[in-house]
Formats: sequence, C-alpha cells, structure tokens
Amino acid sequence: MSITIPSDILPRDGRFGSGPSKIRPEQVTRLIDSGSVLGTSHRKPPVRNMVKRIQEGLTELFQLPDGYEVILGNGGASAVWDAIPFGLVQHTAQCAVIGEFSSKAARAMTRAPWLAETSLRKVEYGRMVQCEPAGVDTYHYAHNETSTGALTPIRRIDEPEALTIVDGTSIAGAYEFDASAVDFYYFSPQKAFASDGGLWIAFASPAALARIEHLTENRWTPDFLNLQLAVTNSRKNQTLNTPALATLTMLDEQIGWMLAEGGMPEMARRSKTASDLIYTWADERDFAAAFVAEPMYRSPVVTTIDLDTAIDSNEISAILRANGVVDIDPYRSLQRNQFRIGTFPAVEASDVAALLACIDYIIEQMA
Ligand SMILES: *Cc1c(COP(=O)(O)O)cnc(C)c1O
Repeated sequence: MSITIPSDILPRDGRFGSGPSKIRPEQVTRLIDSGSVLGTSHRKPPVRNMVKRIQEGLTELFQLPDGYEVILGNGGASAVWDAIPFGLVQHTAQCAVIGEFSSKAARAMTRAPWLAETSLRKVEYGRMVQCEPAGVDTYHYAHNETSTGALTPIRRIDEPEALTIVDGTSIAGAYEFDASAVDFYYFSPQKAFASDGGLWIAFASPAALARIEHLTENRWTPDFLNLQLAVTNSRKNQTLNTPALATLTMLDEQIGWMLAEGGMPEMARRSKTASDLIYTWADERDFAAAFVAEPMYRSPVVTTIDLDTAIDSNEISAILRANGVVDIDPYRSLQRNQFRIGTFPAVEASDVAALLACIDYIIEQMA
C-alpha cells in the first residue's frame, strides 16, 4: 500500500532508531569546522585534549565519585562483553537476562572456560528481573534492555568483594542515577550520546580498577580485550589502537550540548517527556499497548508498543520509511507486531508527537 503523508504533519527529523540513532546537525557540522581534528594523529594534543574533555565532561555529567575513572576502548559494548570474563570476573558471575542484549552479555561469561558456571536469572522478555546476592564475585545486568524496552533500577548487589557491572549502553546520558552504586558501567556512544558506533566507554570504581589490575596480571588476556591496557591508555587520554575521530568529535559535541542544556536532569526530562507521549498515546488507543506491562519498568529511551493483530506494524513502518520516517521496527529476533521507538535526548518531543500523528493518519487511511 502506498500512502503519502501530508508534509505538514511529518516530523522535522524522521530518525527514531534505537541505535544508531538521530545525530544532531550541530554534531555533524563540528566534523567540518576549521578546528576539526579529522585526519590528524590520535597521539597528539588536539585529539588527546578532546578525549580529556570527554572524560571530564562525563565525570561532571554523571557526577562520578572520587576515584572513579573514565575508560575508553575500541569495539563498542560488544567488545566489553568479551573483555569482562577476562578482566573483571574472578571465579563466577551472576547475570540477569531480560532480553537479547543482556543475554549476549551473559553468554560471553557462560562460555568462558576458565570461569565456574554462571548463574542466570531469567524472565520472559518484556519483564524485568534483578540480580540477587548469591555468593558470586560479579553481578551483571543491563540498565536498559534495548531489545524489549525494559528498565532495571540501578542498585548495588551488596556483598563483600563483589562487583556490580552494568551495561548502560542505550540509556547512559538520559537517566539520573547514583554512580557509586555501580563498579563498572559501560556503554557505546551511538545511542543516547547521538554519536557513531565503534567505541566503548566505561566508568570504573576503585574496586573494579583493582580487580582489573590483579586479573590481567595473573591471567592470559588478548591485548584487544585487556582492560588494564585500556585503563593505562585512558589515563593518557588515548586508546590502545586508532579510534574513529568522527565518533569522538560527535560525542564531545553532544556532551557539551548536554551540559549546556542543564545536564542529566534536563536530559532525563527530555527523554521522559518524549516517551510519555508514546505510552499515553498507546493507553488511549484500544489497538495499542505498552509491551512492558509494569509502568515503573518502562524505558524512557526505548519505547515498545505492541499492536493488535488487525494492524500490521511492518506495513506501517514501511509506509513511514517511504515518507522519510525511519527505524521504528521491533528488535528483529523478537518478531513481535510492535513499534520500538528511540526517544533519546537528541530526539525532540514535538517530532515524537508528529510521528504519532503520522501513525494515526496511516491507520485511518488503511481502514
Ligand atoms: C546497542 C547495545 C549493545 C551493543 O553495542 P555495540 O556498540 O553495537 O557493540 C550492548 N548493550 C546494549 C544494552 C545495547 O543497547
């Protein structure tokens, strides 16, 4: 079916993906500014100063406690999944599994032959389960499960010597929390930070830094996955190997924008406002319902809405795409009749309202 959406109801920016996600034009402009570092050495002051500004900006944005360090490396959050069993888990871990991303993190630990059996806490997708004290040395959960749109409350699993590790990939930069409750919080910049992929960033507590140093001294670790090498390089505002300078530049620009706009409270407010529009829209329509049933576990950045079988989400998504409004498809392997809409801080609430108006328009025309 071909439907032309009237241009006066279209969003100004039609990018609603859950990662990669909308990049603000100002971030892209920075790449071609006269001060751009593109094509210059990452070992020289212009790039190292930018990395330092990123580290300091994140420390301020997240109000990291004294002694926490901002670490960077190449390979994105997926590389961190493979680094964790080498550099952070001593003997055995517990992982909460609430969707595809938390499942992949758990699998990296389950398959590491030098670790004892990983304890898994699993629930049906769309729901949330937390880690519980189990006498292991590492606990891992996803702050925001990007495949389902379920949010996990941040808390430390309080056991002596145990580390709390959190995948914050899709929500870091859009949610206020107390960083002292986590030991290792990692993310990629192509989601709430509106940059490009390929990089990972982590906040490490003194306990995590000590664990990394101890384990990498005593356990063979490939250099690329060696978190101690990442720590050592990050202390010099560098990465082990060449980073994507465009990713760093757009990240730097976004952190500056976030701080100038009012920091984390304002970023959280933006995402909450935009996602509330969608949850309210779904509540008001009898053909739509939030996938995450419990309101307190609904993500403010990845909004998942199930549709009645009479309405085909794929068809609507295809019509939107033909009109320049993209990426509201559900996570591929979930195979649900669903919209999954990214409401990151860079996305304007007015554009979300326009998207919803477009969806209503399409459904009306299809009827
Ligand atoms: C996107 C995502 C990842 C993977 O990030 P990459 O940069 O593609 O490796 C991991 N965890 C979560 C929660 C994500 O949303």
